[in-house]
Amino acid sequence: MESTMQFKKIFFKLLFCAFAAGSLSLSNAQAADLPDQKLQKLAAEAVKKSRIELGYPSNQNIALDGFYQWYIKSGLSGLLLNNAGNPFTSSGTLNALEIERNVIEFFAPLYGFDVKETWGIISMSGTDGNNHGIYFGYKLLKGKTQIDPILYVSKEAHYSNKRLADLQNIDMRLIDCDRMGRMDPNAFRKALDPKRPALIVFTMGSTFKGAIDNQKVINAILDEVKPVAVYRHVDAALFGGFLPYTVHKDLVNRKVNPFDSIAISGHKFFGMDVPCGIFITTQEVLKKQNPFDIPYLNGAMPMINCSRSALSPLKFYWIIKKVGIAGFTANAEKILNHANYLKKRLDQIGWPAWIGEYSNTVFFKRPSQAIIDKYHLAPEYDERFGGDLAHVVVMPHAEKALIEAFISDLLKETKNKAD
Ligand SMILES: *Cc1c(COP(=O)(O)O)cnc(C)c1O
Repeated sequence: MESTMQFKKIFFKLLFCAFAAGSLSLSNAQAADLPDQKLQKLAAEAVKKSRIELGYPSNQNIALDGFYQWYIKSGLSGLLLNNAGNPFTSSGTLNALEIERNVIEFFAPLYGFDVKETWGIISMSGTDGNNHGIYFGYKLLKGKTQIDPILYVSKEAHYSNKRLADLQNIDMRLIDCDRMGRMDPNAFRKALDPKRPALIVFTMGSTFKGAIDNQKVINAILDEVKPVAVYRHVDAALFGGFLPYTVHKDLVNRKVNPFDSIAISGHKFFGMDVPCGIFITTQEVLKKQNPFDIPYLNGAMPMINCSRSALSPLKFYWIIKKVGIAGFTANAEKILNHANYLKKRLDQIGWPAWIGEYSNTVFFKRPSQAIIDKYHLAPEYDERFGGDLAHVVVMPHAEKALIEAFISDLLKETKNKAD
């Protein structure tokens, strides 16, 4: 008895020391770190660079100041929320699973899902959404037929699909593309194996040329060749963000162009300031997955990751309320108009340039490295367009003044060459 008491006393003393040491070192660290010049420098440079970013699909018009003010005022900045769990079956207080479900249910109808039949998550990224689409598709097809599926994806699709096929050990057929980057129907027909299930990944906005695979033509081939089973996943990381608010909205409407799942990046079009994504599928597809019932998380855990961000759904919800359909529509119109404006200006100055249908991506003869660096352009090589290329992805912060500054830099380059 005596010795237990003694032990407890020592134990609590040690515990107290550990806490004291912990808080002491924390406050020392804080005192030493602030203001951190390294961080200040990073911020100053990033703020400046963000205004002339043209090469990658990031929306630099982030409007989350109000969110961060609310977040601190609410007390949430002093605790952890964690969306570990299924947003369609779990709830509770130290997470934002209900808000996550609200966000998915806001977006689902825009892609032709009936809310009642919808399942989805706010994923880590477009890649994470593709991971779920490919995984769910593979398991559904294999379960239905007991035959190993083949994944078909275009050569110009985002590399994540190829990486994920490799990671998940799935047979993949890389399909040639036409000049503008769309899956070539004849090459697809040749590659399509009727005896094995087909896991199709449609690209909506190929990485460099911004091409959209022609679903109608590919579907007609599937109807004709009739593989034993078909699953369609749409990789719409960039274009899936803006297409629902344009006259081309049927391209991502599964009621018009059928598909089983779709992945969209949150940090590309919508103005999220951290990588995240939307992954949407149906309850039907979900039912075909191994549920891995986990009692301590209140049920099935169909998603690949356990812990997921609760902050991303909160921010997404904020953006939906603040920007909403009207704001998304205005931004979608703006980026498509400005992309066409950029193409027109390049034509006017005689700079070889191309743009696909429905696209906010303009690709052109590659300028000097100085211009590439200044605007953070992405390079590519394609002999069909004369070799060295670069592209601009026109995002909501790309105002006409920025496009004009870019054009005038290109003009200086042609003048220098002529001299
Ligand atoms: C950006 C992009 C991806 C990757 O998305 P992340 O959110 O960066 O993981 C995948 N596919 C396409 C078509 C993309 O544009």
